[in-house]
Amino acid sequence: MFTFDFINASTRREIRERLGALIVDKYSDLFPSEPDAGILIKPNLNSNMNALTGNTTDLRLIAAVVEILKERGYKNITIGEGTNSGFYRSNISVISRLRVDSLAGYYGIATKDLNYSDTVEIDFEDGVTAEVAKECVESELIINMPKLKTHFEAGMSVCMKNLMGCLVGMKNKKKTHLSLAANIVNLNRQVRPHIHIVDALISMEGTGPSRGTPLVTNNIFVGRDPFLIDLICTRFASYNYRDVTPLAEAEAKGLIGSEYLGFAEEVELKDIYKFKKPDAGVIAGFIHNPKRQKYFLAIRNTPFFNYICSTGIAGRILFMTGLRQDVFIDKETEFKGLSLNKEKCTDCGKCLDFCPIDLELPGAFSGNIDCCIQCLYCYCICPENAIELNGELGFMEEQIRQYDKHVRGNIP
Ligand code: SF4
Ligand code: SF4
Repeated sequence: MFTFDFINASTRREIRERLGALIVDKYSDLFPSEPDAGILIKPNLNSNMNALTGNTTDLRLIAAVVEILKERGYKNITIGEGTNSGFYRSNISVISRLRVDSLAGYYGIATKDLNYSDTVEIDFEDGVTAEVAKECVESELIINMPKLKTHFEAGMSVCMKNLMGCLVGMKNKKKTHLSLAANIVNLNRQVRPHIHIVDALISMEGTGPSRGTPLVTNNIFVGRDPFLIDLICTRFASYNYRDVTPLAEAEAKGLIGSEYLGFAEEVELKDIYKFKKPDAGVIAGFIHNPKRQKYFLAIRNTPFFNYICSTGIAGRILFMTGLRQDVFIDKETEFKGLSLNKEKCTDCGKCLDFCPIDLELPGAFSGNIDCCIQCLYCYCICPENAIELNGELGFMEEQIRQYDKHVRGNIP
């Protein structure tokens, strides 16, 4: 039987309240009986771009899920992700930059970089095998928490694509690209999260996953079948599902049939958006064509090419041509505190709506906020620039340069 639910929410408190009610009402059969059962939360921490850009899973949603689990007494909860190869290769901890480790510390739970996990072997196309993190297969409850965004190679990235973060290290992630759509399907047949909670609060349209623009969509989707949820997300975004290559592949393999298509077409959705399509550019579009990609990969995976890519100039050229989606800035944020400029503050309440740990902002700025996880959501969202950082933005400076016009004052 198909299950699919959606919630409309835009504030931290709405997310917590409405998701909590839905999970208890319709998904409590998934809760393990033992309080020390191993639970894995697998968000999308694709890059160091925070959730307000539309790139990664919203900390407010992760916090809500952690609270729901802790409320039921679970003690062995881990937030795990095997972040994207470029950051991994550059020794940048995305888990730390996105303050997921601070959030976990606030709740007394663990984080794990799945790139360093023990492994379980799975089958890919053409007799190739790949290794996924053991936690993604053996945990008693696995919660997949993708971000809804467009993707210049796959069409769209939701539940199915998010499982690429279960692959351990660059060696295994690269194997997916030997036959991207088919291997994403293979991954989803062998790694089976129990529940999928999609962050479509601030989605990404255009040239995702890292160069698109945020689109406020204020939805959370919940279900048990990644193929079905991804199919419904194409309807939500007004996409042809066949333009999403893993879905087209799943259909070709007979995993999505008329029942799926009928349910996805009929299921109730409150909102439908028209997402802008990715435009990878001429060079990236030519190279990433599935017919040519394997030849590019053969070159890209050589030590010499990896060395060239690690130099600043080559990295910038690759970024400009669209062949690389991310910029890998090594300077960390130096956080010495936040303060409120009371003359600028209009008491609009946005900082309160966006604080993942629900601090009573802006009033709390005048007291002790030592528990602040330093995510800077409040700083980025404040329409009046009334929140001031004592310290240095570091890598966040580039992100704010690119996204401030989309975020500040534009996210209601
Ligand atoms: S978002 Fe900015 S203006 Fe609005 S209440 Fe917070 S500090 Fe004040
Ligand atoms: S006060 Fe601001 S920086 Fe601190 S946790 Fe809340 S939103 Fe994040």
